[in-house]
Formats: sequence, structure tokens, C-alpha cells
Amino acid sequence: MKILVINSGSSSLKFQLFNMENENVLAQGLFQRIGINNSYLEFNNNQDELIIEKEIPDHITAVKLLIDTLLSKDQGVLKSMEEIEAVGHRLVHGGEKYKQTVIINEEIIKQLEKTVELAPLHIPPNIAGIKICQKLLPNKAQIGVFDTAFHHTIPEKAYVYALPYKYYQKHKIRKYGFHGTSHKYIAKRTAKLLDKPVEELKIISCHLGNGASITAVKNGKSIETSMGFTPLEGLVMGTRSGDFDPAIIPFLLKKENLKISELDDVLNKKSGLLGVSGVSSDFRDIENAAAKGKKQAQLAIKLFNYRVQKYIGAYAAVMNGVDAVTFSAGIGENSISVRKNILNELGYLGITLDNEKNKVRGQEKIISADNSKVKALVIPTNEELVIARETLEILNR
Ligand code: AMP
Repeated sequence: MKILVINSGSSSLKFQLFNMENENVLAQGLFQRIGINNSYLEFNNNQDELIIEKEIPDHITAVKLLIDTLLSKDQGVLKSMEEIEAVGHRLVHGGEKYKQTVIINEEIIKQLEKTVELAPLHIPPNIAGIKICQKLLPNKAQIGVFDTAFHHTIPEKAYVYALPYKYYQKHKIRKYGFHGTSHKYIAKRTAKLLDKPVEELKIISCHLGNGASITAVKNGKSIETSMGFTPLEGLVMGTRSGDFDPAIIPFLLKKENLKISELDDVLNKKSGLLGVSGVSSDFRDIENAAAKGKKQAQLAIKLFNYRVQKYIGAYAAVMNGVDAVTFSAGIGENSISVRKNILNELGYLGITLDNEKNKVRGQEKIISADNSKVKALVIPTNEELVIARETLEILNR
């Protein structure tokens, strides 16, 4: 059985085609710069890696090109689209309503349209992706896997903000949490590597990429996470500020004479690693600049590591202990120095890093010393595989 997974962003569209008999990826790729000039498709079918440069004005053109490429004589991996059983969509925000994976129907699309305000950058391209697949693959099941779903187990005391309660009642302002499919996968793989049931473990899952979040996973359930009402709260990210004193908002609006939309832009697109370093939002660029002595780049790295360290301490506290700390996503999987700098500050928790084992990039591995009371791990995340598995599960129900 073959399942296509689609992750549709505002100007990008990622996909993976799985053979679910063995969970092999038959083809994967990414459309970049949709609706902008110089758009292209990166396509990999396990034999060839190619870049198809083409005018891709919108997502419908992208999905058409994807179907043509999957069926093409030279690079294709399918004889007919009938071989695909279903399409699994990554949906960023399920609000309070959607606590699990759903079969997408008109009612769900209507509900999604009502939640656009909660993630205005993400939900419209998600809906567009669904509608296009419904149109181009009309007889295939469309399944929605929500980024927020894994966090529905977070208790009230952790998800309610100390604002007037009527705002929660009226506008549903609360912590939702994101990267749920990733944290779920990381927790399960951590348990597998430690050879223990996830239901018996306290895991701190650190998804450190361009977007970054940490989750406390107790007995297999998310009980606290660093992103909140939107993906702005929590850690220092590529261009997002993460936590700061909210009183700075009215102060800055006045002092800098900013419009609300301009400040929104500052917090989401001009802050974080980019804002502090003044160099780039990309961690590798910042590491290079720091190595050359650029002080703000050095400071940005310190802020990033320090915030992760602080959250790990907090999440060990809320779980009343911790068995494992796992690093994932672009920075977590690849930056040896980030893991080292953070873990070396966590000796009090019972973590001892093995510096040799830590010399790993993008591979599943336990990186703590054999006698370390609390284990540290690297697990490359695989959100697409979780989406494909959940899609299969709902089809089999
Ligand atoms: P992601 O959003 O998961 O794709 O992660 C992107 C981030 O990972 C960017 O900031 C990259 O600079 C960072 N990254 C990727 N590879 C490395 C590496 N080898 N060392 C440090 N950071 C990396």
C-alpha cells in the first residue's frame, strides 16, 4: 500500500511517497518558492536527485507537476496514481476540537477555515493543499494529522494563561503546542533505543530546528510544551523571539511608532537568532560568524543554549524527574557543540555526556556515558513517517 504525505507551506510544499509494506520512501522532495520567481522542485527517487526549474505560480501547479513527475517515464516511481491509497496532510493547527487524526471531509475544511486566525501563515496553505489533492486525486482518502494533537493531554494548569479567564472562553486563547508529530516520534524512538516501554519513561524531547520547541513527555503523553497559543512562545528560534516580557509589546509600539502588523513581523521574522546575531537565522552561518569572533553571533548561540538548558530544568521539575533528554531536528541532530554546551550544564540532573559518542550527526544514538543515570540521545525526527503511519492506521480502522 502506498501513501503520499503532503506538507504544504505558504511558498513551499514538501512530500514523501511511502511504500507502507516496509515503510520505504519511494520518492521525496520539496517545491520551493511557489508563487515567487525562480521556483523549482527538488526530487529524489532513491536513484536520481534532480532539480526541476519551472514556473510554479501556485500550489495546484505544484501538485500537477508532482503527479507528472511521479508518473514520468524517466524518473517516475508509479505506473498509475491508482497505486496510491491515500494522501496524509500535515495540518498545523487543530484548535481545541481536533485531538486526533481525521478523515478530511467538508465539515473539517469548514472548521479549519474558522481557525485560520490561530495560524494565519500555516492554515491557508494547508487548506489549499487539501483542496488541490481532492481535485486532482478525487477518489483517494484525504487524511489530516494535526501538529497540535499530541499536546491535547497537557493539563489545564499548564495550558491556561493567567489572563482574564473570559479570553479563554471567548477566544480560546490558551497554550496549544506544536511539532506534535515530531515529539511523538522522538519519544517513541527514545523508548525503543532505551529498550523500555514509553509508558514508563519521563522524556524531555528537544526539537531544535529553525522552529524549535521542547516537550515534557511523561508516560508517553505530552504534559507540557514550550510553544503556546502560536509557535512564537518558548525557545530562541531562527527568526522568532520565544519568551520575553509581554509589556515590551506596548512599549515598543509607542517608542518605535510601529503598527501592530509591523511588530508582529519583528517578533516572528526579525528576532531570535537573526535578531540577536545580526548575521543570519541559519545556525551554521552563526557558528561560522562566531568562530570568526563576531560577538553578537557568539551571544546568539549562548542565548539559544541557555534557553534550552532552562527549559530542560523546568521540565525535569514538572515531571518530578527525567529519564532521558533527546535532541532532534536540524540543530539538535547536527550540532555537536550545542548538545555538549547544554548537557555539560546538566550534571546535577544525573547526565554525563560521552564526548566521543556525541560526535554524531543525523543518526540515532545514545550519547550519554554508559553509567549516566539520565540518558541523552540523538534521534533524527521523521514527521512524514508518523503522518504516513497515522494515515494507514485510520484507513485500517
Ligand atoms: P530544520 O528546521 O530542522 O531543518 O533545521 C534547520 C536548522 O538546522 C538551521 O538553523 C541549520 O543551520 C541547522 N543545521 C543544519 N545542519 C547543521 C549543522 N551541521 N550544524 C549546525 N546546525 C545545523
